[in-house]
Amino acid sequence: QADPDIDAVASTLAGFLADRHRLFIGGKWLSAASEATMDVVNPATGRVFASVASGAAADVDLAVRAARAAFEAGPWPTLQPSERARLLWRLADALEAHGDEFALLETLNNGMPFKTARLKTIHSSVESLRYNAGWATKLAGEVPSLSLPGEWHGYTQREPIGVVAQIVPWNAPLAISVGKIAPALAAGCTIVLKPAEQTPLTALRLAQLVESVGFPPGVVNIVTGSGSVAGAALASHPDVDKISFTGSTRVGKEILAAASGNMKRVALELGGKSPVFIFSDADIESAIEATALGIFSNSGQICAAGSRMYAHESVFDRVVDGIAERAARLKVGPGIHPETEIGPVISKEQQIRVSDYIASGRREGAKVVVGGHAIKCDGFFIEPTVLTCATSAFTAVREEIFGPVLCAMSFDGDDLEGLARQANDTVYGLSASIWTRDLSMAHRFARRIKAGNIRINAPSIALDLALPFGGYKQSGWGREFSREGVEAYTELKSVAIRL
Ligand code: NAD
Repeated sequence: QADPDIDAVASTLAGFLADRHRLFIGGKWLSAASEATMDVVNPATGRVFASVASGAAADVDLAVRAARAAFEAGPWPTLQPSERARLLWRLADALEAHGDEFALLETLNNGMPFKTARLKTIHSSVESLRYNAGWATKLAGEVPSLSLPGEWHGYTQREPIGVVAQIVPWNAPLAISVGKIAPALAAGCTIVLKPAEQTPLTALRLAQLVESVGFPPGVVNIVTGSGSVAGAALASHPDVDKISFTGSTRVGKEILAAASGNMKRVALELGGKSPVFIFSDADIESAIEATALGIFSNSGQICAAGSRMYAHESVFDRVVDGIAERAARLKVGPGIHPETEIGPVISKEQQIRVSDYIASGRREGAKVVVGGHAIKCDGFFIEPTVLTCATSAFTAVREEIFGPVLCAMSFDGDDLEGLARQANDTVYGLSASIWTRDLSMAHRFARRIKAGNIRINAPSIALDLALPFGGYKQSGWGREFSREGVEAYTELKSVAIRL
């Protein structure tokens, strides 16, 4: 696809950006009850470029009531599954038609390069709507054979859970929002979605499309606001049936506690510290390329990023040099520049946080092979960085940095049990990547790694809608994507009749 003229796309967005952004509740655009607003900052410039309503408990309550009304009455509960599928397809078509606009909005708000936003975010979001639309007509129960005495007919059926709250982080605002909305709508639920306070804009623009393609009022509601106020109000709301949260493990634990009040169903997609293992027989050039991509894409702000790399000692120097050489070549800059490959991190706080982790690495004895600095300018940029670490005890190896920082370590021998202990020496269990030509060994190793998503000869950020995605241990609860992701928005009922 030819690159569009970014100025032309910007002019189509000008009207939207000049708007006073309100909450989308029950099909209406409302100011926050308190009239409070929050600024939205462009991380590439550090400047405020929009303002949105800052919702609180009263607004959340209104949104939950609207979602409840849409779930219990009106056209939504009686709509045929094929009609829900049709609406999801219409939303996909509308998003595709406005794809460049959404991509630019994501670039201005999240910082990701415009090219990445167009080719990856918009594509995957449109595909997610279409993929999940297909499930609306395919959810089904079973007719098991029963062992009760006498003659029986028993069956199971899947019913939508009800009103779901969805809380989204800032690292992939549109893709994660769509990835939550699409399966919930396919299953027949109604939604209150809260985007991250840093990145509310694409969700609000999406709500305009939801409205224009004809979803009944109240089926999708968007409440912008802070996590500690609007997010917490959703997590503890007694009339929310399920909460689906993507974000940090720390907040995930708070969600879990808050959700216990009415025992709402909880799905958590949390942090990671995913290992990459490169064996001596691997296709080393491919491993270098993919490992660099896996940690530097989106400035390392991907939950499944391969952030701990273990390379066999016989190839370690070659691998580290290769990744460092690619890191040094990557063009870091504002996402609207066509040549930019790596944009800023999301905020000043995140820039400081990542810099502190690099400093802790230096203090504890890691060697900075490339990068290692925040870039001095108004935006929040960090150089792609590779640290070699003598031990996995370093803080930078143990904690999720969520920035463009790779921790490299070497191993010797081929003791899979020992390597698995290193892979599993973390509270997380999201993803892992294995590089080798010995496929039997790769599968044996995959069995030993406690993580939800294993990729062999591919980076751990290679996701597919048909494969369930989620974490072991403190990386989360439940799975998104695939059939599991849609069924997660259903309750399973059994019915049996004595004949
Ligand atoms: P975060 O936990 O700070 O915030 C995520 C969302 O939760 C935001 O919308 C925020 O407003 C809200 N929130 C904050 N405090 C809340 C509270 N007390 N109650 C309810 N909601 C609250 O996370 P972040 O910094 O925005 O995102 C980065 C984190 O997300 C990283 O840890 C990353 O690994 C994780 N993540 C995980 C996945 C996954 O699929 N596993 C995907 C992307 C990001």
